[in-house]
Amino acid sequence: MSEALRLPSGGRIDRGTTLNFHFNGAAYTGRPGDTLASALLANGVHHVADSVRLGRPRGIFAAGAEEPTALVRVEAPTAETMVTATTVELSEGLRARGLNGHGRLEPGAALSDHDAMHAHCDVLVVGAGPAGLAAALTAARTGARVVLADEHPEPGGSLLGTGEPLAADDGSDWVARCRTELESCAEVRLLTRTTVFGHFDDNHLMALQHRAPGPADGGGGARRRVWRIRARRVVLATGAHERSYVFSGNDRPGIMLAAAARRHLHRHAVLAGTRAVVCTTNDSAYAAALDLAAAGVDVAAVADARPAVPAHWRDRCAAAGIEVLPGHAVVSTSGHERITGAHVAALPTGPGGRLGPRRGIHCDLLCVSGGWNPVLQLFAQARGELRYDETLAAFVPGRAPEAVLVAGAANGRFGTADCLAEGARAGEEAARAAGFRPGAPVRLPEAREPAATAPRALWSVPDPGDDPGRHFQFVDLQRDATVADIVRAVRAGMRSVEHVKRYTTIGTAHDQGKTSGVLAIGVVSDVLGRPVGELGAVSFRPPYIPVGFAALAGRDRGHLHAPVRVTAMHDRHVAAGARFEDVGEWKRPWFYPRRGEDMDAAVQRECRAARRGVAMMDVSTLGKIEVQGPDAAAFLDLVYTNLISTLNVGRIRYGLMCTADGMVLDDGTVMRLAEHRFLLTTTTGNAAAVLDWLEEWSQTEWPHLRVRMASVTDHWATVALVGPRARGVLRALAPGLDAANDAFPFMSWREADVAGIGARVCRISFSGELAYEINVPWWSGRRLWDALGAAGAGHGITAYGTETMHVLRAEKGYPVVGQDTDGTVTPHDLGMHWAVSKKKSDFIGRRSFDRADTCRDDRAHFVGLLPADPQELLPEGTQLVADAPPAESPEPALGHVTSSYRSAALGRTFALAMVRAGRDRMGGSVRAVVGDRTVPVTITGTVFYDQEGARRDG
Ligand code: NAD
Repeated sequence: MSEALRLPSGGRIDRGTTLNFHFNGAAYTGRPGDTLASALLANGVHHVADSVRLGRPRGIFAAGAEEPTALVRVEAPTAETMVTATTVELSEGLRARGLNGHGRLEPGAALSDHDAMHAHCDVLVVGAGPAGLAAALTAARTGARVVLADEHPEPGGSLLGTGEPLAADDGSDWVARCRTELESCAEVRLLTRTTVFGHFDDNHLMALQHRAPGPADGGGGARRRVWRIRARRVVLATGAHERSYVFSGNDRPGIMLAAAARRHLHRHAVLAGTRAVVCTTNDSAYAAALDLAAAGVDVAAVADARPAVPAHWRDRCAAAGIEVLPGHAVVSTSGHERITGAHVAALPTGPGGRLGPRRGIHCDLLCVSGGWNPVLQLFAQARGELRYDETLAAFVPGRAPEAVLVAGAANGRFGTADCLAEGARAGEEAARAAGFRPGAPVRLPEAREPAATAPRALWSVPDPGDDPGRHFQFVDLQRDATVADIVRAVRAGMRSVEHVKRYTTIGTAHDQGKTSGVLAIGVVSDVLGRPVGELGAVSFRPPYIPVGFAALAGRDRGHLHAPVRVTAMHDRHVAAGARFEDVGEWKRPWFYPRRGEDMDAAVQRECRAARRGVAMMDVSTLGKIEVQGPDAAAFLDLVYTNLISTLNVGRIRYGLMCTADGMVLDDGTVMRLAEHRFLLTTTTGNAAAVLDWLEEWSQTEWPHLRVRMASVTDHWATVALVGPRARGVLRALAPGLDAANDAFPFMSWREADVAGIGARVCRISFSGELAYEINVPWWSGRRLWDALGAAGAGHGITAYGTETMHVLRAEKGYPVVGQDTDGTVTPHDLGMHWAVSKKKSDFIGRRSFDRADTCRDDRAHFVGLLPADPQELLPEGTQLVADAPPAESPEPALGHVTSSYRSAALGRTFALAMVRAGRDRMGGSVRAVVGDRTVPVTITGTVFYDQEGARRDG
């Protein structure tokens, strides 16, 4: 019969609507308000899938995010690779299959149905149970902007799953009133179906929100949203997860956390079984036993591990006809696809004692409570410290991070009245700390509950009976990891719980040990004979729940994943047939083949034009950063290795930046635009990183320096005009500019009209030839390009790309940061001693140049290489070894090739390399390892062309 275990009334489901769904190929029905797990239980289905390692049947163990076993793959309405049945809301047409823990990614591209949201608030409350609701309402009444997030479809937390009336007032009525008031506050945002999964620095939190299933889905819009929330104060009211204790055969379907059985009863009006045994170490499972009995379950017994049973619960059980077994625990179970019986026995009363005789009790449901773990994953992610509380047998918050408060069960308060009061206090404190004065007090409902008695810390049944190897005492149900595995880890020498975790894989599955983590620490403590508090907790990392990459990516996918940047002249390059190269996000012309030319031929032609006539290149992508302020010069003296403050207005200097360890970070030119104003260029790929770098030093190390910087990369379009005839072309376009050598010398800049466009013209050269870099506003870039093309036509002006640029600069021995360097190269290694100031008292990296390692004579030096065969083109990255093979094997590498080209000007190939003590090997030879061959090469200086530097003045 369909939904045979559904109660005729109660629960928070819509009985007027039937939902059809399929599980493992069979058809079932359920109701709106069900989870897939509750709908399966309503149909008597417990066995979800077989376990990952041992293939043992596994069922539904919990009722929420902490579920370790009931993993499913959802096939419809929208595919989900791997989710827990307890967190999937039932919807019409849902199709799912049980999963053993090995998921398979969806082969088709997921729809772009994830969105990103950003929110700022004064107080973020995570969790909408009694503590969270009291906190949110109290904070809202101060006028603070409040965000309240809860993973469930409706607020209420445990109150909805217990059915225990608050005094003179039904718990859910109070919840409904809170909700109404919160929804009426303009500054409050209630996010349901929203799980906060990451708590990062400065109260930046991330949350995953699901849209309600059903017709709303068909209407389009994002199915999920990832929220990035920045909060002044955070109140964590995340409640507690129940845990079990370990006994033999504790993994069979039908074994369930006691509070989960109770939650399925009250939320979904579902009986998880017909005849139950309840075993516990604390008070909370009694309420589950009594509620199940009242709903018609035959509760055979409550086995309480504590020798003394609280009178209140003993009397109520007696009245309900439930047998209570003090000092007892479940030691093993029977059954296969479903539990058929539990064996209980009296626990030993003293050290060295033995279990009492075992008694078998027939049942189809075994409810377990081994205590409660405050949900502190977010707290720990935010660097909160955890402390073990002996009385509660639980880890509770220790020192809290700044601006984070914990309230309710998450703070080890397991009584409802305490949770309400503490929530209200936390809400007020958080709002006050965010600058708000208390508002009207929130009237908290009275909670009538018996005084709590302390739990017993029981991690595993000490005598495993017929399972002496403890191979069926499961600690992590998902990983199939047992007490035997922990014993093996300890025998192998593991002492830290972090090591045991990694050795056994406990706590590393999708649930990240929500129910097994603390249990594992308890078992380690038993095995080692060391107190739990001494062992400490394991660390938690985001995300708190599994989050799909598609959700994190949101809309940043396909062509939006990595935006393409193009220059103002891009369509001219396309029209000219350029082949493009990706440099960072930029598309840069690589070379411009003409009429069937291959790359080699095109590059040789482009190089000849630059060396003999005139050529032009779009260099707009070079990073440009403007640095301004009265202390700009002093700041730049600190970040560059050479002196910048002595630069005159109108002049340009080449500069190197190093990291604190003295390694070259970037290079470029610095122009002094005015006394307090500089323009820096950076390599194309490093532009953002260099700006970050400057900001970091300015903000964290030298906040007293009055300096500001901004990227102006895409404010300017820039063309390099290169070659002996460059001056002629420039004169034709800029008649007002005195381009004579002495009027406009090398390494200076001038303002001028070029082709009628206001331009900044720099005399710098990355090719060794006479060259100008002409900067115009971005939107005039294409006009400038066209004008240069027209004015240079008579001189045979030739556009060239990055490959030719590389050949030209390599012929001159100019290194490219990131190609010839790799983060382990100092300016001195590059032979650029001249670029490192000896006058400045400090700059980033200076102190590192005195380290023994940076002063070594045999560091790798930047050198040139000429292969003996002038046609041999060495692949970049080629290893270099000594000329005479040494006796030792393997042969030590002396260095490697960093750049290698065919040169039109030299009529041969050449290369640049980093070679150990390279400057002491000038004229010597080494061998390059090319595939299976070794190729003799000669070590030379780095400058191959125009060594006197005669050409740069034209
Ligand atoms: P709660 O469990 O009622 O509410 C916490 C809420 O936070 C839940 O809805 C949970 O789903 C949600 N949540 C947790 N992590 C989240 C996240 N990362 N993102 C979004 N939502 C998240 O907790 P409370 O308000 O502290 O109240 C605890 C209640 O449970 C009290 O009524 C208390 O008596 C009862 N309780 C009793 C015992 C016991 O031993 N008797 C033990 C624990 C709790």
